[in-house]
Amino acid sequence: MLYYDQHVHTYFSFDSDAQFEDYLAQTQHPFVTTEHLEMANPDEHGHDNKPDYHDYVAKLEALHAKYPNQLLRGIEVGYYAPKLDDIYAYLDHNRYDLILLSFHHNGEYDFQDDHFKTVDKKTLVQNYYQTMLAGVRRFDGADVLAHFEYGLRVVSVTPTELAAWARPTIQAIFREVIAKHMALELNTKSMYLWHDAALYDLVIPWYQALGGRLFTLGSDAHVPEAFQMEFAQAKAFLHAHHITQLATYQDHQPTMVEF
Ligand SMILES: [Zn+2]
Ligand SMILES: [Zn+2]
Repeated sequence: MLYYDQHVHTYFSFDSDAQFEDYLAQTQHPFVTTEHLEMANPDEHGHDNKPDYHDYVAKLEALHAKYPNQLLRGIEVGYYAPKLDDIYAYLDHNRYDLILLSFHHNGEYDFQDDHFKTVDKKTLVQNYYQTMLAGVRRFDGADVLAHFEYGLRVVSVTPTELAAWARPTIQAIFREVIAKHMALELNTKSMYLWHDAALYDLVIPWYQALGGRLFTLGSDAHVPEAFQMEFAQAKAFLHAHHITQLATYQDHQPTMVEF
């Protein structure tokens, strides 16, 4: 089996209009979307964005009749501590193959908001990783830690700054990720659109030194044109870190595939 993109959005996500068919036209491989479960979303006036599971499964069943691809179910959980009970209630009722864990907002602003260009960078970085550490410790059931640098996308943090400000916290996050048998995602949108590849370069050896072996690769596509974006470039990057296998998820069980 070949590796396939494991971070993809469709119109079941609040911020995408993409159609399944436009992705499926590009691949014969298993296909999974990871739709946003985003509680108290500041980008949506504090609304809880929850994919309609019944409609999602019905859509996958209809597609199954027309496409040869294995169709898997995925979700991207936006962690927000005050809404943890609601997040668990949603997940308890619905079955997924793959759960990504993300840290997108602080209850007031999404971390991609320009607001964060006006705050002290060091404070932002330290707060972001403290929140992530608390969340990764507390949250159970996720398969993958997605885009570990999401909170830094709109500010430019150098590897030197990140190491100086947050290295022990990020290492503690990775210990928790490893203890929970989660994978670390390499997000090509972060690496090549937001130019954060150097931050991945910095932290991958930290993760490996702690025993981390599980990795996934995702484009974070919100439009069909971004599906598997820069996977060739990412492959060279992974090989430079001696990573030649990636985890793919079915019913939360990882299967390692050559990449
Ligand atoms: Zn995300
Ligand atoms: Zn996403």
